[in-house]
Amino acid sequence: MIGPRADLALMAGYHSPQVDVPVRLNTNEAPEPPPEGFEEALVAEIRSLDWHRYPDRSYRALREAIAAQHGVAPEQVFAANGSNEVLQTLCLTYGGPGRSVAVFEPTYALHSHIARITSTGVAVGERRGDLTLDLDEVRRVLAEADPAITFVCSPNNPTGMVEDEATVRTVLDLAPGLLVVDEAYGQFAPWSALSLVGDDVPLVVTRTYSKTWSMAAARLGYLIGPRELVAQLDQVVLPYHLDSMKQAAGRIALGFEDAMKARVAALVEERGRLSAALADLPVDVWPSGANFVLFRPRDRDGGAVWQHLLDRGVLVRDCSSWPRLSGCLRVTIGTPAEDDAFLAALEDALR
Ligand code: PMP
Repeated sequence: MIGPRADLALMAGYHSPQVDVPVRLNTNEAPEPPPEGFEEALVAEIRSLDWHRYPDRSYRALREAIAAQHGVAPEQVFAANGSNEVLQTLCLTYGGPGRSVAVFEPTYALHSHIARITSTGVAVGERRGDLTLDLDEVRRVLAEADPAITFVCSPNNPTGMVEDEATVRTVLDLAPGLLVVDEAYGQFAPWSALSLVGDDVPLVVTRTYSKTWSMAAARLGYLIGPRELVAQLDQVVLPYHLDSMKQAAGRIALGFEDAMKARVAALVEERGRLSAALADLPVDVWPSGANFVLFRPRDRDGGAVWQHLLDRGVLVRDCSSWPRLSGCLRVTIGTPAEDDAFLAALEDALR
């Protein structure tokens, strides 16, 4: 049998083990299904679909709905199957052999993974010991590597930390190519780089339906960026990549904005409660602007604490063996009951 491409040989995949336990706080999903009324509206829409026809290739209605939500033009919106496919389309369009991306670790693992899958080089910069972005390091890496794409994740996964406007502006000035600000968790943060997007600015901001919109199952994400860039992405992505059901689901979801804003506010409050509770325990906690919190047990092995939590029916993300994150665990903000179960299990593990 033929083997895979030689440059894929040593690449590790990216996955979080899905274990069937009562409390799943490992993949940063929304803790609740979409609001009441969403399902009925979607079912009605699905009944009226022309199933024998290809979907609207340019997903006009969805594009217009997303654009209206952000106060931009539909031509500034590019959507795909999850923001992962948005990132992949960016790498296919602006990366490739002889080009590179820059990432600042630890950050979202898929930035470098997708770059490698698309035969794009990866220039790795280091964050400071406290996991904040070091602008001197950014300057050094961008000058040395001259990357086609610079990735900044804000709030950063898995640290939860938000880059402020001055920092993003500085990176934008320094980046020789395109700056991608991954805002998968943008709604949970006090500031968004969306305000910097413009047709003459080499910047895109990516967003997802997987967290805020309670639609991880639908696989839908998008970016806001310059018109010219969006037109180039449209040429690269597969024709009809967004099926009709997904287009409808994405459009209908945006009709529930008030409910979603209320949920985000509740999660932000719950994040405050969880962070405060963690601060009373023998763990180091990083400040989060996302729907998850990174922490490190001080006198216990991170992997052992992860297993203890799992034995008590609570699944969190085990980052304890990841480079630069030795001993760390990441917990998604759940419902108050789920978070209480997590805190009780953690206290038990640390006792
Ligand atoms: N960016 C970041 C920072 C993420 O954490 C995630 C989800 N884990 C994604 C992008 C991908 O999200 P989607 O479900 O839209 O592909």
